[in-house]
Amino acid sequence: MQVVLARIGVEPAVRLAADELSQYLQRIDPDLSVEIRVYSAFDRTATRVIWVGRCPELGQNLPEVSDPELDDAICIRVEDGAGFITGTNPRAVLISAYRFLRELGCAWIRPGDDGELVPSYPIRALNVAVREKARVRHRAVCIEGACSLQHVRDMIHWLPRAAMNGYFIQFSRPFYFFDRWYRHESNPYLEAQPVTREDVDAITAALTEEISQRDLLFHQVGHGWTCAPLGFPADGWQELPDEAIGEQARRALAEVGGRRGFFGNIPLNTNLCTSSKDVRELVTGTIADWCAAHPAVRFLHFWLADGFNNTCECPACIERPSDYYVQMLNELDEKLSARGLPTRIVFLVYCDLLWPPCSQTLKNPDRFVLMFAPISRDYNRSYADMDPAAETCGIPPYRRNRNEQPKELGTCLAFLRAWQKLGAKDSFLFDYHLMWDHLKDPGYEDSALLLYRDMNSLDRLDLNGMVSCQLTRCSFPTGLPMRAMAEALWDGTKPYEDVRRRYYQEAFGSSWETAAGYLSRMTELLDPRYTRMEPPAPYPEAERLARVREAGAAAAAFGPEAQLLAKTESDSTRRRSWEILALHAKYIVGLASCTETRILEGPAAAEGKISALTDFLMQNEVTFQSVYDPDQVCARICEIVSAWAPDKDLSQEGET
Ligand SMILES: [Zn+2]
Repeated sequence: MQVVLARIGVEPAVRLAADELSQYLQRIDPDLSVEIRVYSAFDRTATRVIWVGRCPELGQNLPEVSDPELDDAICIRVEDGAGFITGTNPRAVLISAYRFLRELGCAWIRPGDDGELVPSYPIRALNVAVREKARVRHRAVCIEGACSLQHVRDMIHWLPRAAMNGYFIQFSRPFYFFDRWYRHESNPYLEAQPVTREDVDAITAALTEEISQRDLLFHQVGHGWTCAPLGFPADGWQELPDEAIGEQARRALAEVGGRRGFFGNIPLNTNLCTSSKDVRELVTGTIADWCAAHPAVRFLHFWLADGFNNTCECPACIERPSDYYVQMLNELDEKLSARGLPTRIVFLVYCDLLWPPCSQTLKNPDRFVLMFAPISRDYNRSYADMDPAAETCGIPPYRRNRNEQPKELGTCLAFLRAWQKLGAKDSFLFDYHLMWDHLKDPGYEDSALLLYRDMNSLDRLDLNGMVSCQLTRCSFPTGLPMRAMAEALWDGTKPYEDVRRRYYQEAFGSSWETAAGYLSRMTELLDPRYTRMEPPAPYPEAERLARVREAGAAAAAFGPEAQLLAKTESDSTRRRSWEILALHAKYIVGLASCTETRILEGPAAAEGKISALTDFLMQNEVTFQSVYDPDQVCARICEIVSAWAPDKDLSQEGET
């Protein structure tokens, strides 16, 4: 059979869409002949071709969206090998092409080449019909964790394959994340290959190219605007001695506890004295210059310092930090408008800035995107469990530098509702399910369901999407949470059970129920709802011990089975899925053993076992680097173990 792909135009994402279609079709059926022809416009006389791209004739078939440049909708109509694959913008055309391949049986179950499933069969007819639009605008991932160029590149490639559409590089120079990977500071089994700041600039340029090629919505920076204008490092949370502060710079720093200096010795966590017009001018001027120099960045994040209770207490800074913040947002908007710069500014509702302004409001709401980042939220409840109208409780009073970060979801949403009154025209959630919380769920089953339900609730919260602040490597034991997130952001009308089953079938093949059974057992026994509680409450010690032992025994029995299934699996991606589970089973055996020892013999006795488990994960990082970030896994081991085996005097349980 012969397929002719009639590509319209030269846009990089459309070009990539046609190239990817050609490549994957030929991988499915090497006997298929695929030809790409390039047209400058739609041509009615060309028949027996599949049009790939955008034009008014094809555009009529697309679902309506509010802003075709930013909102993704797709239409695929291919009958007997002829028809079209289109979308509202170049990125949507690419998403549409991957969707076509999904309909033919391709699947991407985790980032990286070893997460790709390409079926093999003779293609005798091509018939696909899809007409859909994304449920929300923003469907993006934010860089976190220790990562290599390859790890991030794999993530960027995965995004449009999962119908996601944006990527966020934190900092102007994301040195922190790459430095952590290439130095391998905590892993004695990997040789350090430190990168310089210039190396990271080259990495950033390569990633920007990957993002632009896919026409992804590109976000950048975030924290750092309280450092860079004063000449302090703005690319990570590194400490700097007080002597590094010059006299002039010191006057700009927030006064906390009677002195101006770095907050906890960390420039990135240090706020500024924002009642000062000079300080505000310095910051907004720096940002405006940056926007002019980085036209590829569509969404510039202007955040203040990280951390909380670090606001200036000087006699001039009498207003809330959010009032000075909104004042700066307006001043920045004026500068950008004067220079004709279209960059959208993302502002952050987070920590001390959760408390909304009292006197200021946004003068040009079209410029701004509200980003709601409830970092201290409770993951034992979903936004789906909230009635946004009825359950919103009041906002606690603002107390400068004595604020408590809200945990209760109703309180978090009350802050959101207050900020939404400022009328920013666009908004999204910035949430941390896959940053820390997922690692408290050894089977990933609770995390995936929570993500699916949370993402399904965004429209009820009047939020237009999600930027997931997450580890770049988080497919241990599976990529189900990322799949669940992506599915709900695109559609969300499917029953969760269908999404879950399809994922496991793709990832594990005919024995998928064995894998699913193991994973749901792990989540059930090592119940993350318990691990998340502070202080732990519901299970008495005898039951905790029984659960931990049962999890260890189940994992010990499952490990060899997974290994055997890996050996007999013919597809390399599925073999990899089983190998990951076999490794995971060993991890659970170790985790259960640490916890049991701590319950029975106390913290000191468990320390050696925790070190051995950490060492095991470090040793395996070389082979399994794409699926887990050992620094983060190891940090959570300590949290899980101490939640399940709390120090006796701290235990709140009432045993009878
Ligand atoms: Zn001040």
